[in-house]
Amino acid sequence: MYDSDIIIIGAGPAGLSAATRARRVRTYNLLSSSVMIISNSSPGGLADWTKVRMTGDGWSYEKGDVIRRLMKDVEDYSIPVKREKVLKVIKGDDKFTVITDKGEYTSLAVVMATGMRMTWNEKEYFGGKLFGTLKGYRFMEDYFTELCESEKGKTMVFVGTEEMNKTIDFFENINRGRMKVKKVLDRGTNIRGYKDDIIVMTDEGDVPGDLVLIDFESYMLSTYTGNMIESHKDERGFIKADKRCRVQDGLFAAGDITGTPFSLAKAVGEGTTAGLESYRYVYRKKFGKEAPVYAFYPIHDEGSATYFEIPELKDDYRPKLLVDPIKKDDKFIFRECEIEDNELNSTLLEKCDGQHTLKDIRDELGDIDEKIKKLINAKDLTLEV
Ligand SMILES: Cc1cc2nc3c(=O)[nH]c(=O)nc-3n(C[C@H](O)[C@H](O)[C@H](O)COP(=O)(O)OP(=O)(O)OC[C@H]3O[C@@H](n4cnc5c(N)ncnc54)[C@H](O)[C@@H]3O)c2cc1C
Repeated sequence: MYDSDIIIIGAGPAGLSAATRARRVRTYNLLSSSVMIISNSSPGGLADWTKVRMTGDGWSYEKGDVIRRLMKDVEDYSIPVKREKVLKVIKGDDKFTVITDKGEYTSLAVVMATGMRMTWNEKEYFGGKLFGTLKGYRFMEDYFTELCESEKGKTMVFVGTEEMNKTIDFFENINRGRMKVKKVLDRGTNIRGYKDDIIVMTDEGDVPGDLVLIDFESYMLSTYTGNMIESHKDERGFIKADKRCRVQDGLFAAGDITGTPFSLAKAVGEGTTAGLESYRYVYRKKFGKEAPVYAFYPIHDEGSATYFEIPELKDDYRPKLLVDPIKKDDKFIFRECEIEDNELNSTLLEKCDGQHTLKDIRDELGDIDEKIKKLINAKDLTLEV
């Protein structure tokens, strides 16, 4: 028993893409997996702060648009999103335990999509009193020259990793004492957000200033978000994954957390790959065979069609509903199917909670296999182990 087949940590473009791809399978008879997202900030990650370009101006999205699109599927498929900060991920013999600031969750697979840094509520301040070094030093030189004069006597708070001293030196060369400088060293979990006009909230207390500069260069040079799990990392803390986003058995990583290049297109591409790969991993673990995820991984048996049967409904499988039905006109209405609203079906749906085995349910309600298959086919129910 566990909380979800797959837990995805981070709700930026990589995590949201992974979640949808792991949950949304369309092949006839193929089972969906249960997926849960855990993220410390509202969905969006860095791609929700401003207009973003997928490739160039020809393929770009206004602020909020990428996330609105990605969240549509997450909502349509009722994928739960927990707003919690992940502190540690522990790999056991056959399960992962994800420890957060609010609780503990278990799963068969984990996708790490935590980006180069934790985001909080920065997007509320971005472009006003908070900005980033994203456009690089050439742009920053002009910007700092103007800023140090217009904001003379005010306080700039730098937020970044140990590497931020390089940016501070660069700033001070231009500043020459006109603005006061404070720095907040981000150790991965010590920053709690931003408030008022403008204060960086940290575990050690509030750090007020007049402007905040997020030093992206320093996060690009070293990160902490991967520290919550023991895994292969490069010398800068980015998680090493192969081209199928595999880190180790059951563990996958996607997006900025796997290192350069830091881009939306890479995050979505790797998220998609990690979602499909984690789905296949979990499927093999649960049913002992390859999932025919048509057209992503075609399977051809010599001389026979790739028709696929629902795995045998073994006694010890635990059915879990993935969607809450709507009750209307004596029916339980799901996304793609409906069943009669009567006492038996109502009890059946209650017991499809990932806790009761098929044997428990059959013992109490008799033959329920056809209904289980109907819900499986509609992708509204999975079998956990
Ligand atoms: C201002 C700006 C403009 C950009 N413009 C472009 C552009 O035009 N084109 C382009 O290709 N790229 C652009 N990028 C980069 C792009 O946005 C990122 O590469 C992309 O968002 C990375 O996606 P991700 O999902 O890997 O990480 P993120 O978007 O960083 O998302 C990671 C998520 O994981 C969460 N998280 C981290 N640690 C934890 C934890 N311990 N517990 C729970 N949750 C956690 C974070 O809070 C965050 O929500 C831009 C970035 C910024 C900041």
